[in-house]
Amino acid sequence: RDYSKDDIRQMAKDENVKFLRLMFTDLFGTIKNVEVPISQLGKLLDNKLMFDGSSIDGFVRIEESDMYLYPDLSTWMIFPWSTERGKIARVICEVYTTDGKPFEGDPRNNLIRVLNDMRKAGFTDFNIGPEPEFFLFKMDENGKPTTELNDKGSYFDMAPMDLGENCRREIVLTLEEMGFDVEAAHHEVAPGQHEIDFKYADALTAADNIQTFKLVVKTIARKYGLYATFMPKPLAGINGSGMHLNMSLFHDKGNAFFDEKGNMQLSEDAFHFLGGLLKHARSFTAICNPIVNSYKRLVPGYEAPVYVAWSGSNRSPLIRVPNSRGLSTRLELRSVDPAANPYLAIAAVLEAGLDGLRNQLAPREAIDRNIYRMDAEERQENHITNLPDTLHNALKDLAADEVMRNAMGHHLFQSFMEAKNLEYNSYRTQVSQWERDQYLELY
Ligand code: ADP
Ligand code: GLU
Ligand code: MG
Ligand code: MG
Repeated sequence: RDYSKDDIRQMAKDENVKFLRLMFTDLFGTIKNVEVPISQLGKLLDNKLMFDGSSIDGFVRIEESDMYLYPDLSTWMIFPWSTERGKIARVICEVYTTDGKPFEGDPRNNLIRVLNDMRKAGFTDFNIGPEPEFFLFKMDENGKPTTELNDKGSYFDMAPMDLGENCRREIVLTLEEMGFDVEAAHHEVAPGQHEIDFKYADALTAADNIQTFKLVVKTIARKYGLYATFMPKPLAGINGSGMHLNMSLFHDKGNAFFDEKGNMQLSEDAFHFLGGLLKHARSFTAICNPIVNSYKRLVPGYEAPVYVAWSGSNRSPLIRVPNSRGLSTRLELRSVDPAANPYLAIAAVLEAGLDGLRNQLAPREAIDRNIYRMDAEERQENHITNLPDTLHNALKDLAADEVMRNAMGHHLFQSFMEAKNLEYNSYRTQVSQWERDQYLELY
């Protein structure tokens, strides 16, 4: 909603708001909160609220630490839960430098930049419908998460209501109170695993929603003595958690991916966008699957993609074209996981698609068979490549792709590569229990 400064002042007063939570997201997708008392509202509304940027990973060096938070008034929201002293409101902010420029290291600013490029290309909106999955684990007496699942349920299970079901129901109700349009909520394939889908929105709102969603899920889970995790593969041997992204471009006349007379009722634009996604799929993997653990999910056998291909019918490939047409014509990218920074992931896939449009990249033919039943030779005949199999290889692919580097902008790209190479090296130099079990007595 388009709130004015006066609207905000009025709402804060009427609802007895005592604290303001100023939210932004760091490089790694972690939500940062600067909490200030309501007395600071005037300063905030005048874009005069400062914070120390040097304390944020991937932001700036100490010498240039002063940053401003400019509130995006349309994101004003009062949390349905309150403290004894009054309510808490949140507003999502853009990070600005002291010379009044959008800070390049702010992933949200970067998405705004890429969205401007999209408008120059003649489109009005990039719509994103995310399908985040997560696990609910039991907590111990000290409030620490365990790896004990709280149910034995599975996909669309109708078992008697348990703790997990009650918890998920309250998450949905809370999201609805906060203005989310929840389209589906169900148990996922693995025990303890859930999915909640909310209605698609323009890219910036969708990324904001994903961040707020994670906060709500974690907050409500705690009330039930459960720990909600968006780690992509918390347990070996069962499905991991993805965050499929449904996407479409809109222009003045509606959904630009729909063409009643087109092949599969898809427009030329849809095919070019798809061609761009396929071309850059390997190089945006590091952004969409940004942690060591992401690559434990992208393996055969658990409904997560492994190969770069698309299909109109099959669920196994990287990109699926769901059946709906008209306004709902969309592409579903299935590799993304919920550890991804949503602002960066959405900017990357948009830039990949726009590159496809600019260069009229035509995708290869759809693969409507189960790729997992093909052998290596058949896959080669069909020009099907693999997604990178480790964070290390994914980072190499990202660094080699200029279009994807530009999608992040220089500052974010540099900080990302530096941090992620450190992360991978730290992992690589560990010695795990698996190794000792395999080798200690053998050699
Ligand atoms: P699946 O077919 O994988 O089960 P779901 O029905 O669970 O998909 O999720 C569909 C998602 O796609 C929802 O978030 C929905 O709002 C979104 N969606 C619908 N139409 C569009 C569109 N035009 N652009 C982007 N997302 C869309
Ligand atoms: N959990 C699966 C994944 O890792 C997806 C299951 C589904 O199709 O919803 O992507
Ligand atoms: Mg799912
Ligand atoms: Mg899906």
